[in-house]
Amino acid sequence: MPRGDPTTPGQESRQDLTRTIKEEALRLGFQKVGVVPSSAIQARRENLAGWIRSGFAGRLKYMEQFFERQSRLLAGLPDLRSIVVLAVPYGGGPLEERVPPETPGGRVARYAKGRDYHRVIRKRMKELESFVRAQAGEPTRTLCSIDTAPVQERVLAEMAGLGFIGKNSCLILPRGGSFVFLAAILTNLDLEPDRPVPWDCGACTLCLEACPTQALVRPYELDARRCISYLTIEMKEAIDPALRPLMGDWIFGCDICQQVCPYNRKTTEDHSWEEFQPETGAGARLPLEEILTCRSEEAFTGRFAGTPLMRSKRVGLLRNAAVVAGNLEDPRHIPALAAALLEEPTPIVRQHAAWALGRISTQEAIEALQTALHRETDPAVRQEIESALRAALKT
Ligand code: SF4
Ligand code: SF4
Repeated sequence: MPRGDPTTPGQESRQDLTRTIKEEALRLGFQKVGVVPSSAIQARRENLAGWIRSGFAGRLKYMEQFFERQSRLLAGLPDLRSIVVLAVPYGGGPLEERVPPETPGGRVARYAKGRDYHRVIRKRMKELESFVRAQAGEPTRTLCSIDTAPVQERVLAEMAGLGFIGKNSCLILPRGGSFVFLAAILTNLDLEPDRPVPWDCGACTLCLEACPTQALVRPYELDARRCISYLTIEMKEAIDPALRPLMGDWIFGCDICQQVCPYNRKTTEDHSWEEFQPETGAGARLPLEEILTCRSEEAFTGRFAGTPLMRSKRVGLLRNAAVVAGNLEDPRHIPALAAALLEEPTPIVRQHAAWALGRISTQEAIEALQTALHRETDPAVRQEIESALRAALKT
């Protein structure tokens, strides 16, 4: 039966087209797919605006400009009608680390162990996009977003029936857990919308209790400024000394509030794409010596190109490695920390290396701090060395 204008099909064609697109998405490996009308893009704007106003977004510049960017996006898509929302699994299955817990090193959040998800997902989304265009014909328009367009993917995913937003602020698939990336295809096609699912957290508060930095200030409300993911990835400045001891061995990101979630604990199957397996990227744990002695941008890029760890940049990752070394209090890290304190050109890394030596506080660590104090000229680093020495001499 001819469809006529494919962007406004009849009811039956609309259902057929929507079903065909969903089947193709699942065939391509997307774990869940749903559709919302374009009006959903404006949903819960007040919640987001309130969150930004409260300062909880920290220095996330792209969040401050969110609404301005969204207005520009909508002005450029005057005939936007539907949004196809997709979930991509990256780490379900047993929660035990593949690497034995006694392996020293900094822990990497599950989503970041493999290849960079933007590139990986974009490749399959492009396939889906071509399929949609081929199915619907002209004048179909589509725009793919993987964290790239100013839309609230989690809100769209909830409205599209993929799952529900948990008290830890993550989108949770009732039968798949929360270790999923979200992506969206914005289109001028009129597709059949889905309905939200009737699931929620109930009386559970495990994630709020487990968060080591109390970043989940209340259910559904995350203070990004205290969140280890923000501190280790997005924040470029020195980390508040009061938060450093709470960061444990997380060198890039944090999974704690997802690990404790019953919806993840009962998910035993691992549907994650092979590009997100630890073997394909940075891995589950990073040896601290290797990171702390990485002095050049070339070496850093050579090691981490094509992985999410590029986002923290070399300086951020060395800073995080120093915090982890300080928290592990393992004297074996002293030579690498001492070398970073003397040789690293970036003051922020020297600051954190000094803090870590103060935490380890053996005679060797104290001597490394004293040697550095004689040579150091940067006031912020000198201050950090002096405070590390005070801490070390007290113990
Ligand atoms: S990611 Fe870690 S620090 Fe951030 S809210 Fe969850 S448990 Fe807390
Ligand atoms: S841990 Fe409990 S409260 Fe937190 S997101 Fe999971 S179900 Fe909801």
